[in-house]
Amino acid sequence: MARFIFVTGGVMSSLGKGIAASCIGALLRSRGCSIKMKKLDPYINVDPGTMSPYKHGEVFVMDDGCEADLDFGHYERFTDIVCTAADSITTGRIYEKVIRQERKGAYLGSDIQVIPHITNEIKEFILHDSDTADFTICEIGGTVGDIESFPYLESLRQLLLDLGKERIICVHLTYLPFIKMAGELKTKPTQHSVKQLQSIGIQPDILLCRSEIPINNEIKEKLAMFCSVKKENVITALDSDNIYLIPNQYHKEGLDHRICQHFKMNLDDEAGFNEVLQGQWGLLEHLISSLTEAVTIAVIGKYTKMKDAYISLTQAMMHGGFANNVRVNIRWINAEDSFPEIERQLMDVTGIIVPGGFSARGTEGKIHTIKHARENGIPFFGICLGMQLAVIEACRNVAGVSNATSREFSDDGEMVIDFMERWAEEQGSTIVRKKSENKGGTMRLGSYECIITEDSLAHRIYGSTQIKERHRHRYEVSLERYEELFKAAGIVFSGLSKDGKLAEIMERRDHVFFIGTQAHPEFKSKPFSPHPLFSAFIRAASVKGMN
Ligand code: GLN
Repeated sequence: MARFIFVTGGVMSSLGKGIAASCIGALLRSRGCSIKMKKLDPYINVDPGTMSPYKHGEVFVMDDGCEADLDFGHYERFTDIVCTAADSITTGRIYEKVIRQERKGAYLGSDIQVIPHITNEIKEFILHDSDTADFTICEIGGTVGDIESFPYLESLRQLLLDLGKERIICVHLTYLPFIKMAGELKTKPTQHSVKQLQSIGIQPDILLCRSEIPINNEIKEKLAMFCSVKKENVITALDSDNIYLIPNQYHKEGLDHRICQHFKMNLDDEAGFNEVLQGQWGLLEHLISSLTEAVTIAVIGKYTKMKDAYISLTQAMMHGGFANNVRVNIRWINAEDSFPEIERQLMDVTGIIVPGGFSARGTEGKIHTIKHARENGIPFFGICLGMQLAVIEACRNVAGVSNATSREFSDDGEMVIDFMERWAEEQGSTIVRKKSENKGGTMRLGSYECIITEDSLAHRIYGSTQIKERHRHRYEVSLERYEELFKAAGIVFSGLSKDGKLAEIMERRDHVFFIGTQAHPEFKSKPFSPHPLFSAFIRAASVKGMN
């Protein structure tokens, strides 16, 4: 029997609903349950693909090419499941579907309304495929009280009637502000937020309370009474230095136990479960607390003020640190700083990453950084745009073709990186890229196979000649057109698409560690299985640090 866990958020945004939902998923997985993770996003964009990383953070890419909210990255990292496009919905997508149906005359002349037409679609999304897992964990985006979230909460209310309380639990993530002057945690914002939920007809079963300091008994009693929640279901969600410490923290607070109790699950072997958990998250906790050595890596980009824009990258770097028993400190460098300023900040780093990105802005600073890494033997890792820029840098500064560029930045010069329509048809994709098209839906998206040359750095790192990575880009290396130039620039393409026509991985043989990948390996790195490229890169940077 499929059961549902809804995670809503109160008081304010950025409390970490995605991480809370992921931790619930992780704990249930450790208990041997199968799970699905779904997210309902209240914004009107059809998908987050066209949203600015400055405002909304990273766009996460799934295997099937779905461009999704960054929370899906947390879901996959914490629970080790693979999410699909069918797990993500936005208001824009629901309306798009309903309007399409209306145009076809599917509603037989009735007027289309939020209730029941929109809410029916939402319920259908939630229920879809839910019988394939023990639990479906649904995160409702936004904050309770937002006008945009209302149809989702209304759908939840209806589902509570349709399926009954035995099959649904409502977890409300909220915040208790600590007022320093009074030395007190305040419960009023939570009370108001719960009242708002209640006014829609939803009674939360569990309050997950974010707080800077431990929540004492008195406060828990107060919250329980005013919010009609059992006292033991008021759970502390203390701020944590490292997100991978949270599953065990929630477990110690009894969160998964309460969820199991709600669903009347067998809890006879809690000691056995605890042992499993300590062998996983407990060990990771131990590893994190025992990291004494540190390595400093520079990440040069355009969105360095908005750390969520690089969330999968920072996580993958941390995982690479786990694999090498080192803490990874990131030196964020703004690509638009002056060259001398960039060089000053690069002085003491032992590894450099140029991550993915879009448009010409900041690219000269990144190219300058790549030159610095190449000339000074600093381990370098270029991701997507980072690899394209490494190709341009070598063509300009090693082969002497000073006008080498990408079609993305200019229409003048040698287009060593260009717009290509061909891959789509060859790879049997349903999307055919046309330069004239809208920005949405013109990218090479999702998982693609790559064939790796034996005895290359890439081969040593992956330990395989056939791999798959996720892509999200419009432009490609002009492999055939500039074959000779690339040779002269000292670039080796050690990873190619299956048909041999697209560059997937580049490396330099005249350098201690210099690799670039057209894909985004950061999307597939997990705390318990760090991505080999990140492990190898952090290892090279640590070795460099010891010299
Ligand atoms: N802007 C580049 C392209 O579209 C790279 C994209 C990326 O780094 N994700 O090809």
